[in-house]
Amino acid sequence: MHCRDYRLSVHAPGLIKINSGNKKPSPNESVKSKECSAIYPQCGTVYQAGNWTWKRPESTVIDDAKTVTCPACQRIDVNMPAGTVTLSGSFLLKHRNEIINLIENTEKQEKAEHALERIINFTDSAADLIVTTTGIHLANRLGHALEAAFKGDSDYQYADDEYGLSVDWTRDE
Ligand SMILES: [Zn+2]
Repeated sequence: MHCRDYRLSVHAPGLIKINSGNKKPSPNESVKSKECSAIYPQCGTVYQAGNWTWKRPESTVIDDAKTVTCPACQRIDVNMPAGTVTLSGSFLLKHRNEIINLIENTEKQEKAEHALERIINFTDSAADLIVTTTGIHLANRLGHALEAAFKGDSDYQYADDEYGLSVDWTRDE
């Protein structure tokens, strides 16, 4: 079986770009496996046929599978988000639990479909709530889920020169 260098096919191309231009810890110093058929990261994802997916019980066991840190865990390890969702406005203060439930449920759905799309953390910044993600699809989906559930306004800003998305959602009562 022809085996590709998985770093060229990862779902988070920003990792490669970010590392080429600065001295931050490199999340990409991983195994470059030419002979691999599958890679099994510790979080339970598997790399096969050019994609990262959740390992399923019926997956074929491959003896020479490599164990590495997947791109999502690399971003989490070095706290290098691809997506940032900033929530603000007085509605947030009164409905914080509902909003966090929505965000967590949205992550659960997105993560089930796309193994590399995960929340890194929730951070309070003054009256704002900041949610960081490993992928831009989850950040985008969170913005739309917030609008669908709670109305308010979302603004989406894609980074010009790297893989990144900032979403600002706000609602005042
Ligand atoms: Zn992982």
